[in-house]
Amino acid sequence: MVEILLLLLPLAFFAGWRASRKKLIRNQKKQQQLSGHFVKGVNFLLSEEPDKALEVFLNYPDIDEYTAETFQLLGDSFRNRGEVDRALRVHQNLIARTNLNSKQKQKAMFSLGEDFFSAGMLDRAEGVFQELLSNNQSNKHISKAAICSSLRTIYEQTQEWQKAIDATDCYKKSNKKGDGKAPLINSQSLVAHYYCELADEALQQGKLNEVDDLIAKVKGVYKQSTRLMTLQGDIEYHQKKHKAALKKYLEAIKSDTRLMSMLFEKVEKSALAIDAIPSLQNDLLALYKKKKDKTLYEVTLLLAKKYGSSKAIDDLIEAELPTQKLNIESIFNTSDYIKSHSENIDAEKGLDLVNQSLSNYLKGVPAFRCEHCGYKMHDYLWRCPACHEWDQIDHA
Ligand SMILES: [Zn+2]
Repeated sequence: MVEILLLLLPLAFFAGWRASRKKLIRNQKKQQQLSGHFVKGVNFLLSEEPDKALEVFLNYPDIDEYTAETFQLLGDSFRNRGEVDRALRVHQNLIARTNLNSKQKQKAMFSLGEDFFSAGMLDRAEGVFQELLSNNQSNKHISKAAICSSLRTIYEQTQEWQKAIDATDCYKKSNKKGDGKAPLINSQSLVAHYYCELADEALQQGKLNEVDDLIAKVKGVYKQSTRLMTLQGDIEYHQKKHKAALKKYLEAIKSDTRLMSMLFEKVEKSALAIDAIPSLQNDLLALYKKKKDKTLYEVTLLLAKKYGSSKAIDDLIEAELPTQKLNIESIFNTSDYIKSHSENIDAEKGLDLVNQSLSNYLKGVPAFRCEHCGYKMHDYLWRCPACHEWDQIDHA
């Protein structure tokens, strides 16, 4: 009996070896088919045939850890190129696969949310991100800060300001340790803007108590917000308390001169209402001397044309035109002011000042421009330094 068993042993070994070899060959063939499939898809991509590539990838039989990562990136790159429909198909296909692990599925879900957002399907995007958020306790593959940040951008678009505040708070709380994958945002400034949006709505509806509560909240998160000062000015303006309104508006403009053009109409009306145009002119003149802001110069001239010139403004023009590089619009407005409104600058002196100012302006204007790429330059060149094309330079 033992002899028979000893005789059968090599036979069993041979049968086992043959079976495992067959399995190995089968696996190798399968691997070859899969890599052939993969290469075919990549070739379609390289030859700019994305739809054919998409069909190959969508019908890809087995997705493993590496191919899932590649498909994920493929979908993301479609979205980054603005091809959202293709991105959606790739990510939806990935999510529908049953053999994906939890991490791959969560990443595909997050990308799907971004696809919906890019496609303007905000309800669908919100649904995906909310689902990810509610499952966030059980998995840590997508950071909570990144999900909350995405939700915040959705609520900004839909102008749901309270939800945007909640999403920003969620971002801030979950990003305490610093999450490299979540975008960096200035949450204080953003939340202040959202409260101000709510306050603007309440002000339009005449709900002043609500506005006061919201202002208190803005002060709590970002006291130095210039939008807060503007809003406080608006509340006073709304109640026709023009002195207080003007004070708040000027405070905001002093903090950020870019607000001048936006607030000018209300500043002018408030000053007119309390007979304070001359003091406003002085304030703006002093602020221009300090900040050298073009809009402040324009506004100072405009007020002088409408409400009367002064020696201080003429002195400013005599000092600024020869030394400052004004833009063509400011030079034209100054020339117009000198011609029709100035009491101290005569025609000859005015012409000389405008001449000097134009000369300053022209020094900075490039004389030539590349017809091929638009690059501007001061001297004629045979070859464009930006795009390297020959004989494309012409007068600007
Ligand atoms: Zn060029």
